[in-house]
Amino acid sequence: MLGAVVSAKTNQLVRLDTNGLAEGSTRALFGQDAEALAACMAAIGEPRWRGRQLAEGLYRQRVTELGAITTLPALLRGRMQAEGWRVGRPRIGQVFVSQDGTERYLVEGVAGPETVETVWMPEGDGGETGDGSEEEGRSWDRATICVSSQVGCAVNCQFCLTAKLGLQRNLTAGEIAGQVVAVLDRQGVELGKDRLNLVFMGMGEPLLNYDPWMAAVRLLVEEVGISPQRMTVSTSGIVPGIERLAEEPPEVRPKLAISLNAPNDAVRSEVMPVNRKWPIEAVVDAVRQVRLRSRERITFEYVLLGGVTDRPEHVAEVARLVRRTGLPVKVNLIAWNPGPGIPYAMPQPEGVEAFKRALVAEGVPVYLRRPRGRDIFAACGQLKRTVETGAMPHSAP
Ligand code: SF4
Repeated sequence: MLGAVVSAKTNQLVRLDTNGLAEGSTRALFGQDAEALAACMAAIGEPRWRGRQLAEGLYRQRVTELGAITTLPALLRGRMQAEGWRVGRPRIGQVFVSQDGTERYLVEGVAGPETVETVWMPEGDGGETGDGSEEEGRSWDRATICVSSQVGCAVNCQFCLTAKLGLQRNLTAGEIAGQVVAVLDRQGVELGKDRLNLVFMGMGEPLLNYDPWMAAVRLLVEEVGISPQRMTVSTSGIVPGIERLAEEPPEVRPKLAISLNAPNDAVRSEVMPVNRKWPIEAVVDAVRQVRLRSRERITFEYVLLGGVTDRPEHVAEVARLVRRTGLPVKVNLIAWNPGPGIPYAMPQPEGVEAFKRALVAEGVPVYLRRPRGRDIFAACGQLKRTVETGAMPHSAP
């Protein structure tokens, strides 16, 4: 019987809150915060502080088996396993390694059969350059993990392969944070020693899965130990989500990137239909509510689609738009990565450089994101469960 255990301390029969856990099934611990883990321990007659031992094992030691949390008594570990409790962290199912060192993973979730995509870029892609997070003496040569927040996406950006999937389901907090911990584990990252950035730019629109996504951020900050100033969330411009983000305390709020991708509302509504609901000015108004930290900048991501968003006349429009915000803004240019069935053309390489130079001449801080892992379909806009398509994936550029 899964719903009751005998407390080793009291010899009393204690009923577990199994949330309808069926006999023979299991229950994941990964994804629960310290308070929930303490409550779990209390529910089986253990002191609440054992929840802290669980949290240490799950999020700092990165264990994948309950039996490996040796700070817990062996009897308790055995009892919990017998009752169906397990770590339940998402696991890396398949690995694709690029010539440039980028690795793309198909990560198996725990709340459904679908896989999601997570990308490891050992030297980043330059996306954080100039956003206020650099340290003295270091620039962009840092590892970055690109994290997914949904299976598929409902936003329907016309240049994005993930959009082709539609929204299949939201990921849980454990599935979002679990992508990060699984990659940290695989790469042997020592937080505090190794430099690491997280970008929530994988499959899905994080701000349309706000509560689980933010719960994952809290876990990553408070339990895993990653600074929110090393995290960037990219949104297509979901105004209610940006307004909620603005309410988050600075101790846990990631930096914000807006997928702008067009010089004006007319073009943006074509390439990003979400603009018809929340046009550029509404998005910028919401962004103004975010209380920026010292040196922090808002990033405008800008995908250059050949002949659509990279015309010479667009430069002045983008510069005007940036100036009108009155915000500390930087622009990340991304040369569009092609995907099957997407009716756009790559920009000419010389056109990308010319666009960048012209924006710089307008006084706009601008950086060119280096395409990473194109050969394994890991670059921006390419993510989409490749296991099925044979080509693949994602996302929010
Ligand atoms: S670019 Fe991002 S928000 Fe737009 S469809 Fe793709 S995953 Fe969704």
